[in-house]
Order: sequence, then structure tokens, then C-alpha cells
Amino acid sequence: MRFGSHLSVAGGVANAVRSAIELELDCVQVFTANQRQWAPRAPSKEEIDDWFVALREAGWDDPDDCRTVSHNSYLVNLASPDHDARKRSIAAQRTELERCEALAIRRCVMHPGAHLGAVPPRVRAPERPQACTDDEQGGIDRLVESLDSLHDETRGFKVVTCLENTAGPGTALGYDLRQLAMVRERVKRPERIGYCFDTCHATAAGYDMSTDAGAASTLAIMKSLLSPDRVLVFHLNDSKGACGTRLDRHEHIGDGVCGAACFRVLLREPAFEKRPGILETPKEGSFKGKPWDRENVRRLRALSKPARTSARVGR
Ligand SMILES: [Zn+2]
Ligand SMILES: [Zn+2]
Repeated sequence: MRFGSHLSVAGGVANAVRSAIELELDCVQVFTANQRQWAPRAPSKEEIDDWFVALREAGWDDPDDCRTVSHNSYLVNLASPDHDARKRSIAAQRTELERCEALAIRRCVMHPGAHLGAVPPRVRAPERPQACTDDEQGGIDRLVESLDSLHDETRGFKVVTCLENTAGPGTALGYDLRQLAMVRERVKRPERIGYCFDTCHATAAGYDMSTDAGAASTLAIMKSLLSPDRVLVFHLNDSKGACGTRLDRHEHIGDGVCGAACFRVLLREPAFEKRPGILETPKEGSFKGKPWDRENVRRLRALSKPARTSARVGR
């Protein structure tokens, strides 16, 4: 896997690429615009030109090499039962996809959204008898419809929307990997859809990855449900919340409930060799005087090496 981080675009999107190079990362994730505004300002012509200059400097200028990843706005809910909210979400997501095209970003990570109906029983995802409650099914129907209309409106776009598995707070969809699989099975243009697998969210949703056996079994479930060649992005976060708590709180690599086993197993999977693996771990403070991203990537690199040479991680 290639290791990167979600970095700030303050002062221009190119700054995220330059910070990534300074941190010696292999890829980067960005918000292409302010993720808390419905109609954010799009990057200017100068900003876009500078982005491509930074990519060339980094040697990241082949878009199909997928060194850059976008994360969509937190406001977008394509599964909303409210007609106006869904319309607004589709419009906002369309502008997100347009920005990705303008920046030659081929991977746009997207949360599947929330159905806003009844909260499902808190059962660990792998132990749920059925993939969906009735309300979840309704949400997935609306999500599929929204994606189909987005794909119609953006024909020929090269960006692939990567549905992210969630921790499953409230009425969020996508904590059960079967729900993500259903979406891609049902859209008219499945080639426009891939997946993003978040280790913290999987753990919080009830997929235990804290032991070698647990991690291997989760990996097998993920590969069989989502197909390894469609899992295009990884979010590498440890989890503060225990397995099955649905708590979405990211922790430094090796310091949380996922622990070393989760990353050791996942990172050594040959099918994911060139995938972007993005840290969304806390950036505040530092580890022994160095930026946390640098330390977390060091831990990931150590864990991705074969067992005999792997260094100690964690505190
Ligand atoms: Zn994530
Ligand atoms: Zn999260």
C-alpha cells in the first residue's frame, strides 16, 4: 500500500501536495472545497494551475496512478428521505465531481449517507441476520437513485466514487459491508463506483480486527463482498471505540482497539499494493518532536514489512 494523509488545503489545494512531499508521503487526500458549506468557492484557475505544478514537482502527474484522493462534503446525504435535502445533496455532489475532474483526481471518497428513520439494533455487523432493516433498504433505494442521476449528469467523468464503510452512528448506512455491496450491484453504471475501507469504522461497526485471526477473517469478508479490485482507497485509522460500539473516534496507529494485528494483516495483502492508504488520525501535538503523520507512517511502514523484520509499534 502507499501511505498518505488527509492534509489541509489552506492557501490553495497545491499546498496539500507540497506538505505531503515534505512529510515524505506517497499520496494525499484533500477536501477540494470547504466541506461545511453547501456552495463552496471552487478552486480558481491559478489555484488549479498551481496544483498541477505541485503534482509535476512531486512526480505525481499521472492521474491514473491515483496519488490524490478527494473526500466529499459532510453535508451531502444522497440517502435523505427529504426531497429538497436530497436534491441539494445531488447538486453539491455534482460540483464535487466537477472539481475532481478539473484537478484530475480519480478517487472521490463518499459516505453513503443516513436514512433518518428508525435507529437499527446495535448488533455487531458480522452477526446481523439481514443486511438491511426496512428503513435502511429505503435509504439504499434513494442512494442508488441519486447516484444514477449523478452519473447521468456527469457522463464521461473519470472520477470513481468510493463508498466508504462507516462506524454506523445513528442511522448512517454502510456500517454493514453488505449494504455497500448492494449499492454497486444496483447502480446502472457500476464502473463509476468503488469502495473505501476504513479500519476504525470497520472495528466500530463490529468487525473485530484486533487479532491476526480476526483481521484475516474481516479481510476475507471484505474481499468476498466488495471484490478486491473495487476496494480502491483505504483509510488507515486506529479506533478509540471498542469493537461494535459504533463510535467514530480515530486513534494513532497501534494505540487503539485495532492495534498492530489489523494493520499487519491488511498492509501485507498483495492485492492492495498500490492503493492509497490515507491517515485521518489526529494531527494535534507531536510525537517526540516530530509531526504525528510522520510517526504514524513510520508505524505503518514497519507493520507492512514481513514478520521477522517488523519493528515495534505503539507506545
Ligand atoms: Zn474515513
Ligand atoms: Zn471516521
